[in-house]
Amino acid sequence: MNKKRIAILGSTGSIGTQTLNVIRRHPDLFEAEVLVGGSNAELLIKQALEFQPNMVVIADKSKYGTVCDALSSTDIKVFAGEESVCDIVEMDCVDIVMAAIVGFAGLKPTLNAIRAKKTIALANKETMVVAGEIVTAEARKNGVAILPVDSEHSAIFQTLQGEFHNKIDKILLTASGGPLFGRKREQIENVTLAEVLKHPNWSMGRKVTIDSASLMNKGLEVIEAKWLFGVGVDKIEVLVHPQSIVHSMVQFEDGSIKAQIGTPTMETPIQYALSYPHRIESHIPRFSFWEHPELTFFRPDTETFRCLPLAYNAIEQGGNIPCVMNAANEVAVQRFIDGKLRFIDIAGFVEQAISKATYIAHPTLDQLLECDTETRKTCNNI
Ligand code: NDP
Ligand code: MG
Repeated sequence: MNKKRIAILGSTGSIGTQTLNVIRRHPDLFEAEVLVGGSNAELLIKQALEFQPNMVVIADKSKYGTVCDALSSTDIKVFAGEESVCDIVEMDCVDIVMAAIVGFAGLKPTLNAIRAKKTIALANKETMVVAGEIVTAEARKNGVAILPVDSEHSAIFQTLQGEFHNKIDKILLTASGGPLFGRKREQIENVTLAEVLKHPNWSMGRKVTIDSASLMNKGLEVIEAKWLFGVGVDKIEVLVHPQSIVHSMVQFEDGSIKAQIGTPTMETPIQYALSYPHRIESHIPRFSFWEHPELTFFRPDTETFRCLPLAYNAIEQGGNIPCVMNAANEVAVQRFIDGKLRFIDIAGFVEQAISKATYIAHPTLDQLLECDTETRKTCNNI
């Protein structure tokens, strides 16, 4: 395997730092060529000093001076601003772009990387939710592989190896259920941010952890799976699997089901996306059936966790509605973090935003960008 040169968009986040863990363990195979952070200058500087990338970008322009000063004794080139984040992915020195910015902000740089014919390791699921049709069409046009990083989608992708000509009967998408699994509506009415952030199996960024508790994350993943694997959402079934050991499954026409199973850590799917099509050695503790003999599966409680059916509805309506849903959810999550919206009201908030939206059946990229902005404005009045 030739050494792969990697640009990490969102290197200072949960996926970004875990990507650097993988690179650190395989310096002969991977090189961090570009690091992009949002506003955490301190961590970006620390990462740059350790990994000595060719370039770093800090999206928050006010931190430019701080990063420049700290790296002035090195050869590392420093850039700032959202435009630089978009431009940097085009550099010749980059083979793979790890798309790990959180939220809508990840869309433009990911699309740019596709247009520059870079292999994409996709963690930023919001990109697919907002613009799955455009993103997959651009990837096809440019002959670009989109390798899933989301653990469920990596699992599906892994089970599909050697099966690309075989029809998928059904995707069985597993969900941990999050920290509120098993609770009824009245038991989540006054749930606090601290409770929601206490995920039983995964340590992730705040947004995805909150989405995970509301099951919006699973809704976003249903849409992500539709676009990544080209199947109708009627063929994607969600199973709550609290142990997070079976990362997802695919059922084929003959009734056979293949699963990908292992210790829950994002470093496995991150590493697989970087090393694909090869598998390389990993230090991850091996899963033991003897220590965890019970794997259980439940139907999702869609009456309590209404974001999941809401996402199914949004993708069935199609057009710009998933974009509206995503923007409203990002606003709702931020309001919940700020203590301005109850957790239980996230679904209703998103629903209201959708009801106020103007439907566009086949939105262009510009229309989607505008739709995101407009939805955030609409949200101010909810
Ligand atoms: P984090 O919040 O931990 O990290 C987000 C990263 O994006 C940070 O590096 C942040 O920079 C950066 N960022 C935020 N806004 C901007 C911006 N406008 N421009 C440039 N960079 C920006 O999130 P996660 O790592 O948890 O999640 C990243 C993506 O991966 C999400 O889409 C999530 O759904 C997906 N994902 C995450 C999983 C996980 O285990 N964490 C699992 C599966 C999918 P800074 O902190 O410096 O401001
Ligand atoms: Mg996931």
